[in-house]
Amino acid sequence: MSGSRLLTMTAPVRDPFEIPYHDIGAPDAPPRIALVGGIHGNELNGIYVLAHLARFLRAVVAGERPPLVLSARVVIVPAVNVLGVNLRERTWPFDGTDLNRMFPGYDAGETTQRMANALIQATREAVVRVDVHSSNLDFEELPQVRLYDPSEAERRTARLFGLPAIVERPSSTIFSATLGHAWNALGGQNFILQAGRAGDLQLEHADRVFGALVRFLTRLGVLRGTRLADEDEEVWHFGPRQTLPLASPQSGLFVTKLKPGAWVRGGEHLGYVYDAFDGVLRAEVRAPVSGLLSGIRRQPLLCEGDLVARIQTREELPEGGAETYLYGHGQ
Ligand SMILES: [Zn+2]
Repeated sequence: MSGSRLLTMTAPVRDPFEIPYHDIGAPDAPPRIALVGGIHGNELNGIYVLAHLARFLRAVVAGERPPLVLSARVVIVPAVNVLGVNLRERTWPFDGTDLNRMFPGYDAGETTQRMANALIQATREAVVRVDVHSSNLDFEELPQVRLYDPSEAERRTARLFGLPAIVERPSSTIFSATLGHAWNALGGQNFILQAGRAGDLQLEHADRVFGALVRFLTRLGVLRGTRLADEDEEVWHFGPRQTLPLASPQSGLFVTKLKPGAWVRGGEHLGYVYDAFDGVLRAEVRAPVSGLLSGIRRQPLLCEGDLVARIQTREELPEGGAETYLYGHGQ
């Protein structure tokens, strides 16, 4: 494998392990863009996309894709949680730590603190940073840009991805140890992409995110020589009070035919909850409001109160909407 090493660490037995990354383009300038995936080892869409993007950009630099030119240095870490990827685990396998609760890290700390610190050092000089996630094992999300207490500049730049939804969230005071939070403290412009479901590779979502990143790099002037077909899908921007998480009124088996990305009307059926023993219909799940279905439950077994869908509304929701479900879904 060609590439640089973010960190090399000894293991209890056998060989040390390393976190490899790609450092592509002019080595004499600081990296302009940093792209990170696989902080959670089972979020395969981002890992797949970033590995392929690195291959693509390396081919551009090697002159194999004329007339394309890479005009700035780009750092890509496809899989931060290397051991988690090998074991298909979200967390760091040795101690079950969630790496995205370890930032900004510490260079003399425990393994995951050192990993967090190494990632910050490798990305701190970049002026634009992107962290790619999927949801968890149970939930599938429309590829979207997530912004946490964004600046006006970030709001504008977020549109350059051309993804169908930009979703603003209040910055969490509880989870202040995420990579996104640490990046915000460093300045620059920072974006979280969220696409699909963990534990699986969904090519449709992955292709969309790959296209979004190529568009993004092109529009930032980092990738030159492409002619973009300027027919973006419509980009919808949702403020912090335009997200409605919908909880199941019943436990049972949840069944739906909807896909994320559908526009639903208030009162429309989203799915059904059946009794897992006798098949009796226990609940009809309906959209309480009209909006864009940005995520839907894919794990049929559910308990009362579990998240079944997320709807982005065109108007602001009344104050006091549940924020409970904003975290724990892939970030
Ligand atoms: Zn994640």
